[in-house]
Amino acid sequence: MPQSIEKQPSCNDPIEPAALTVKQAVEEITGRITALDQYHQINLRQSHRRILFEDICSPFNVPGHDNSAIDGYALASRDLPAEGNKTFQIVGSAFAGKPFQGIIGADQCVRIMTGAIVPDQADAIVIQEDVNRLDDQTIELGSGHRQHQNIRFSGEDIRQGKVVLPRGHRIKAADLGVLASLGINEVKVVRKPRVSFFSTGDELKSIGQPLQKGEIYDSNRYSLFGLLSDCDVDLIDMGVVRDDPDSLRQTLLSAASNSDVVLTSGGVSVGEADYIKGILRQIGQMEFWKILMKPGRPLTFGQIDKALFFGLPGNPVAVMVTFYQFVLPAINALKGLAPQPLIQMQAICNSPIRKNPGRKEFQRAIARNNDQGELQVELTGRQGSGILTSMSAANCFIVLDEQSGSIEVGDRVNIELFESY
Ligand code: AMP
Ligand code: MG
Repeated sequence: MPQSIEKQPSCNDPIEPAALTVKQAVEEITGRITALDQYHQINLRQSHRRILFEDICSPFNVPGHDNSAIDGYALASRDLPAEGNKTFQIVGSAFAGKPFQGIIGADQCVRIMTGAIVPDQADAIVIQEDVNRLDDQTIELGSGHRQHQNIRFSGEDIRQGKVVLPRGHRIKAADLGVLASLGINEVKVVRKPRVSFFSTGDELKSIGQPLQKGEIYDSNRYSLFGLLSDCDVDLIDMGVVRDDPDSLRQTLLSAASNSDVVLTSGGVSVGEADYIKGILRQIGQMEFWKILMKPGRPLTFGQIDKALFFGLPGNPVAVMVTFYQFVLPAINALKGLAPQPLIQMQAICNSPIRKNPGRKEFQRAIARNNDQGELQVELTGRQGSGILTSMSAANCFIVLDEQSGSIEVGDRVNIELFESY
């Protein structure tokens, strides 16, 4: 008896109203994720790019003391001349790390360097360029100076007890400096998500093996390795798995048993060797979404045990596009990363693009500034979802919204830079 063929969406189907937009799919995915609640307490240097598991509060004021913003002379502002010139006696000096120990009397001053603590009796610093040095012990200065000038006040950068970096913040270079300035050398960070991935397909060979007719090298596992390496997770590369239901089931179960996320590529369309969805229905939960996007239209998302599952398409460009759009937000949600501001950039498009309204399109392109400093963008070549070289030459996607029609040369378009996460 002929088997009935289940009607499943593919990249070539006409648009169907029940399909999800990219935004809706991301919300569906992230809405089902709870952030990992395990942490590591690690050394400051190791915490670079990790996500904070705790609020960091300042143990003290920064700066800790009122200090000088310039090289000059510290004095009491009530001694400043309202008009004309006046002389002051120099009674000592203050260096950063070596405070002045004495007392400043009337019409006296202290030579002070940038970062030095302001002596108790002083409340103004006069910059050395505004001073006439008469001899070793005496300066002369004019009017126009004010109380508190050139003083950096204690706590003006950070007040004691204030939350400096909140839980969910991703630690970057400046944050390492901020934490060091607070004397903090250990922080609690969210455990790295563990991500297993493998490729599926009888036609795939791993590099190093000779190719028979009709075989190709598995490239998706390498693109995914690069993408995952950039986003700070623990990787488990599970190789290539044949289009064989038993092997796929075994590999999926073992991947799920020791990871937070399982990624596969290939085997999720409607070809005869596309088994992933059927297996997932047996061993976990599955959603199969038609997404209003190109490339990457069908997306399989689900859960096996506690692990999230993404069945990415097989085509190499579609793998990368769906990774950026769906897997990356999911990994960030698992890490408990606080929502980031969405930064969109516009560029003048130098390539004509044919598009029908309906799906959101991600076209591979290169953006650069022209001689006038304007941001311009052009396509990197043919846009088929198997043509990885157009991705390789690109530094961004041109993102054309669902409603958008064709683009003429000179139109403004939105772009998303790669690796801007
Ligand atoms: P599939 O969804 O399995 O039918 O794959 C769609 C297309 O992507 C086919 O042309 C596959 O040969 C290709 N493809 C699938 N997996 C990979 C891979 N890991 N590396 C390179 N190409 C792949
Ligand atoms: Mg396949």
